[in-house]
Amino acid sequence: MNIAILSIGNEVLSGKTLNTNGAFIAKEVENLGGKLTHQQVVSDEIGEIIRGLEVSYTYADLVITIGGLGPTVDDLTREGVAKYFGIELVYDEGIYQGICDYFQRRRKEVPKNNFRQAYKFDGGLVLPNHNGTAPALFFEQGNQSIFLLPGPPSELEPIFYENVRPYLINRIKERKITFSYRLCGISESIAEEQILHLYEKYPHLNIAPYCAVDKVDYIVTTQECYEAELKAFDEDFRCIMKDYYIGDQTTNLSTEIVRLLKEKQLTLATAESCSGGLLASTLINVEGISTVFLEGIICYSYESKLKHLNIDVQRLMKFGAVSEEIAHDMATNLKEISGADVTVSVTGIAGPSGGSKLKPVGLVYMAINVCGQIFLKSYIFNGNREKIRQRTVAEALYWLYQYIKAL
Ligand code: AMP
Ligand code: MG
Repeated sequence: MNIAILSIGNEVLSGKTLNTNGAFIAKEVENLGGKLTHQQVVSDEIGEIIRGLEVSYTYADLVITIGGLGPTVDDLTREGVAKYFGIELVYDEGIYQGICDYFQRRRKEVPKNNFRQAYKFDGGLVLPNHNGTAPALFFEQGNQSIFLLPGPPSELEPIFYENVRPYLINRIKERKITFSYRLCGISESIAEEQILHLYEKYPHLNIAPYCAVDKVDYIVTTQECYEAELKAFDEDFRCIMKDYYIGDQTTNLSTEIVRLLKEKQLTLATAESCSGGLLASTLINVEGISTVFLEGIICYSYESKLKHLNIDVQRLMKFGAVSEEIAHDMATNLKEISGADVTVSVTGIAGPSGGSKLKPVGLVYMAINVCGQIFLKSYIFNGNREKIRQRTVAEALYWLYQYIKAL
């Protein structure tokens, strides 16, 4: 079964409303192993809806429409679909009662225009909407079937889970299986280089990388009949990526760090210059970190480094704030000041100004003190100020994870 998504709405076409429903359904279909062949956005005009359906059915036998079921006159999805199939819309007392109940629960009168929503397709099904007034509809003719879902995500998603998902599970014959991998501390291109030979070795797998500033995810899918091939790939992939693999695509590096700190009964403190608290903030997003995170110091200025981290003024003058030596001193002194088992410091030039030939924009020094042992890192990151700060945090998290895990 091939599936197409047709989003209907002027606000979606113009970009005022992001098509999050399309993304939601696409992901759900993929998770079920279904084949999504087409997505389209059209305006709230009957002619455009019909044209959208004609195009959709050249790609698919099931079309899922989104939006255009509201009570106002601009919403025309029901009418467009009826015209496409050459069928009648028929009044349904049950739907109307449902709409009346919806308003009565809120002690409100039923607006007249909601009457428009009490229609279904002759011979079609009504799928109740517990979170709004417009029920979803289903209709089938020959080998073409269609779901009409309301636009508000809070209404669409429950209906999808209650009605569309079970339908898809029944119809999707060839199940797909998916393995996912989250890699940190490696770039997309280097990861690709290292596993390039696996594409040829495992021809029945779809191997897809998704890259972000702080991670590279690999999503690998195949049909159920190639499960053995996927398992063999899994072994190879994990062996090659053992230094970068942190878990499946749901794994969060900060959460893993907090888990390891708790497991090993260690505490952590941070001292940040160029990242300006982003590292501490990212870690503190993790629920329950309070038992292991002691403090985070944002020591942006020279004065702050002297005042809060007891940095030696002579060394600060000699090496400059952005230097391996000062990163080292920041992490070392922080250990004394905070009493934490693990400390991390970052100092760098986030730009766009402040760089020089010797110390260019993107230059970042990092020091990690793990129970008295110090590790130093230096980088020259690409990108704007925001990217440089994000990359700094990504690297700090990666190395914290590695060093704490190795303890
Ligand atoms: P409608 O059913 O066309 O009246 O849509 C109602 C509301 O749902 C719109 O005002 C949007 O806020 C939202 N909506 C419609 N289509 C989408 C979509 N594709 N993705 C996310 N939200 C949507
Ligand atoms: Mg609309």
